[in-house]
Order: sequence, then structure tokens, then C-alpha cells
Amino acid sequence: MDLVNNKATPIQRLSENLNNNSFYIKRDDLLPISFGGNKARKAVLFFEDLFLEKSDCVVTYGSSSSNHCRVIANIAAAKGIPCHIISPTESSYPTSNSKMIKLFGAFITKCPVSQVSIMIERKMDELRAKGNKPYFIQGGGHGDIGTQSYINAYEEILDYEKSSSIYFDYIFHTTGTGTTQAGLVCGNILHGDKREIIGISNARKNPYGSQVVLESVNSYLLSQKKEPIVSEAISFIDDYILDGYGSYNDKILQTIKDVLNNDGIPMDTTYTGKAFWGMKEYIKKNYITDKKILFIHTGGTPLFFDKLEDLNDER
Ligand SMILES: *Cc1c(COP(=O)(O)O)cnc(C)c1O
Repeated sequence: MDLVNNKATPIQRLSENLNNNSFYIKRDDLLPISFGGNKARKAVLFFEDLFLEKSDCVVTYGSSSSNHCRVIANIAAAKGIPCHIISPTESSYPTSNSKMIKLFGAFITKCPVSQVSIMIERKMDELRAKGNKPYFIQGGGHGDIGTQSYINAYEEILDYEKSSSIYFDYIFHTTGTGTTQAGLVCGNILHGDKREIIGISNARKNPYGSQVVLESVNSYLLSQKKEPIVSEAISFIDDYILDGYGSYNDKILQTIKDVLNNDGIPMDTTYTGKAFWGMKEYIKKNYITDKKILFIHTGGTPLFFDKLEDLNDER
């Protein structure tokens, strides 16, 4: 598996024209590793670091539906590196991702969600005691390395703007652990841009959600000896989380059908479809008109197939 990713993901125009805005989408779902997505973008940099550190196994955590765990397990398998995943027992039903994680031969330790951090420490100690050098990756690919991967994505957007003479007034995307948003916000700051980066939360509420983004942004800026920013600079929108992680409604299903039918692009109910619906609601609520809007497709294609039956149900 080639981990070199020096080609920008495509940006394309969508047929959506709500409020006379023009909509574009950056296809990070097409990153050429393990079904792509933001977890693939982050994972490439984490594995580069793993090899620099000369680690010989990887430890991470996530639920059975985790895109992150699928990508990490896939790359680890390709590189012949044992992959250890700590997973909460609460989410133990099989999904496309959990089936693939099994296929990749990851070692899974299940425990109650409250004991996840203890189990991680135990696993790291156990591996070190056996003479291994484990590399730990936070859930979702959180941390400065994950942030860096979306500064890189931001720079791909700048290159696109330069070559196409299109300037995006807004960048929208799904925000979860906030690392994707932190990278985009850092890119915006480091390049002195004033555009709006709007994260549509799929689960977390404020103030916690935006606090985590802020901490990630400032952790990165401090590592570069730059001035930290204040919380007002973060647009973390929690109005469209419904009942939290994994919940969705008929409007989200309809949004997914529309984008698939009109543009041939799959989205899922947990992340991208939910945020695309939330973005449109936000645009209506805030009377945003006649702007150029970029939505980042953060991936999750296996989750699209998990919900295909629901998309087919007549409602
Ligand atoms: C994890 C994930 C997100 C959220 O990204 P964060 O960097 O954790 O905020 C969005 N979309 C998809 C498809 C994901 O898998």
C-alpha cells in the first residue's frame, strides 16, 4: 500500500442551488486508501510518524462503526504491523466497518466505555513488557498530527482557488472530535484568510464541542510558536445533532437521496448526509445568499452501505 498522498482530492460543482448560492464539494471520500475519508488523510501522517519512531505495533480505540479503526487496521495489515483496538462493548453490533476490521486481523479488546482509557494503558504496558514498541493513536486520529492533515487539505483548497479563480466564502463540513475543523481553522489563520469555517456537529454539544476544537487549534498554534486564539473564532454548530451520535430523520435520508441522484455522490446518515442537511438548514436560517460554498466530503462510504435499506424504504 502506497502511503504517499501528494495529489489533491478533486473539488467539483454540485447541482444544489439553495438561495442562489453555488455549492462545491471537496471529495476527501476519494482519497486512494481504504475507502478514503478524513481518517485516511489523518492516518497517512500518523503512520509516517510511527515509522519515524520505529514503532512495531499500533494501539487505538473506537466503536464497531468507526471509520478511523477501519483505516488504521487496513494500513497496519498492509504494512505487516499488528493493530490493537480497544472498543466499547456498548456498540457491538456488526457493521461494514467492524466486518472489515475483523478481515484485517486487528486484535480487538472490548470493555465498558468507562474503562477504555484504563484498558489502553494496560494494553500499552502489556506490549512494552513483551519488548514491543507500541504507537498510540487517539480515537478519530485526534492530535496535532491529525490537525496538520487538514492544514494540508486547506492548502489544497488554496491551490484550487488560485488555479480556478473561484474564492469560497464558506467552508462547511461535519465536525466530530473537531480535528478536521481545527486543521481548517489553523489553515485559515496561518494564511491570514478571513473566510468562515463552519463545523456542523454530528453529536457533540457546546460548550464542550467547540472547546475541544479550540484546544486543538491552540495546541497546534503553540507548537508553531504562534499566538493562541479565543473561542469566538470557532463556529461549532450543534443545532442539527438531533438525538446525538447516529440519529437521523427523513429529511437527512431525503438529502442523501438527492445528492446521490443529482450528483452521483454517496453520503451517510451519521456524518456527511447529516451535516449536508444541517448546512442547508443553517443557510436558510441565516439568510446566506449568492455565496460560493465549499462542503468537505469527509468520507464514511461504508456507512452509506449500512443504511442502504433505509434509503430504499418508502416513507
Ligand atoms: C470522523 C468523521 C468525521 C468527524 O471528523 P473529526 O475530525 O473527528 O471532527 C466526519 N466525517 C466522517 C465520515 C468521519 O468518519
